[in-house]
Amino acid sequence: MTLRVGFIGLGIMGRSMWQHIYRAGFPVTVWNRTRSKVDEAVQLGAKPANSPKELAEKSDIIITIVGDTPDVLEVVEGENGVLKGARPGAIFIDMSTISPDTTRQIAAHAREKGVSMLDAPVSGGDVGARQGTLSIMVGGEAEVLEKALPVLEPMAKSIVHCGPIGAGQTVKACNQILCGLNLLGMVEAFAFAKKAGVDLEKMLEVTTQGAGGSWALSNYGPRIIKGDLAPGFSVRFQQKDLRIVLQEAERMNLPLLGTAVVQQLLRSVQALGGNEDGTHALIRVMEQLGQIEIVPKEKGC
Ligand code: NAP
Repeated sequence: MTLRVGFIGLGIMGRSMWQHIYRAGFPVTVWNRTRSKVDEAVQLGAKPANSPKELAEKSDIIITIVGDTPDVLEVVEGENGVLKGARPGAIFIDMSTISPDTTRQIAAHAREKGVSMLDAPVSGGDVGARQGTLSIMVGGEAEVLEKALPVLEPMAKSIVHCGPIGAGQTVKACNQILCGLNLLGMVEAFAFAKKAGVDLEKMLEVTTQGAGGSWALSNYGPRIIKGDLAPGFSVRFQQKDLRIVLQEAERMNLPLLGTAVVQQLLRSVQALGGNEDGTHALIRVMEQLGQIEIVPKEKGC
């Protein structure tokens, strides 16, 4: 029997992701808060639903990729939410980046209705979503993942089962800690090179190949040199993710000094007006601290 898929959230990520599932041969019903995005998806072959509840009634597998933790709670547990319509035996997969703790609570509520849940946050950004090359980190029961795999595979280059429910979000949080600290290392290296008068392109050519290299350095370094602070991944989203990390760390009584510093520095970027810039706009704070100019003033915040 062909699995019927319901897909909620047609933002930067979701608007590409559902299409890979559809092209792999699954019928897909979509719902989005802003109706115009549903209409665009219907033009491309999706069926429309009027609410998450109605979508869930018609689906064997229900996927959400919305914004923050309260947004997932609203579409899943709200008045017209997924759990009001999902039938026993359905699988609910949340691919948003949200709190691991809330994820476990939603899974418990789903279980009471006979619905299995996987948390399956992603990395790979809008490009990975478009190309179907996302990395998916999954938490939940292995048998549930096995049933859902044919629907996840068309969107991904890698799918790793990380452990029980919440483990996918926990690994995603680790990923965001690394992204934040690599970002800080990169902008400090840029400031040091600039102050010392070394050619920035030479610095980048050498360091991307060495032990200090990182994804941030290879991908954002050239953009900083070009003066391009457009997202990629916005400061707004990185701050959401670091807030989730630091809340979980507080719950576990775990000090995360570096992550807290990065969060405060990114808050400075926000204060400078860079909320919607890419995270590499962190260079602006280093410029102020070091009294240097690396990216021309008219670009970004
Ligand atoms: P986005 O472009 O801002 O889209 C957000 C989507 O969620 C939109 O469809 C929006 O509906 C919907 N939404 C938000 N709040 C809602 C609510 N309260 N009720 C109903 N729908 C709501 O975001 P995105 O870039 O696609 O990101 C989605 C998720 O993926 C986030 O958790 C993000 O952290 C994660 N993620 C993003 C990236 C990336 O590079 N963008 C990478 C990895 C993970 P409207 O159309 O009505 O606004």
